[in-house]
Amino acid sequence: MAADRCRVCGGAASGELCGIHLEAKRRLEKHFEVWRQRMGVSWQEYLKMVQANPNTGSAVREVAAHLLEVAEGGTG
Ligand SMILES: [Zn+2]
Repeated sequence: MAADRCRVCGGAASGELCGIHLEAKRRLEKHFEVWRQRMGVSWQEYLKMVQANPNTGSAVREVAAHLLEVAEGGTG
């Protein structure tokens, strides 16, 4: 049985994501709650805003790109 690989960077992971990208995803989801309540943005709109924000860290942006692909592709 092959070890799990991070879907974003291909690094060693204990699930879908490595530690760095798992933490970035948690941060994204936490912030989304705030944005959703304040501005009523959808998950996909939020992910696009995150990617367009130059202040977003690279790990968070990479996870946002991945999650957006999943959300739009639906081929999971
Ligand atoms: Zn990763």
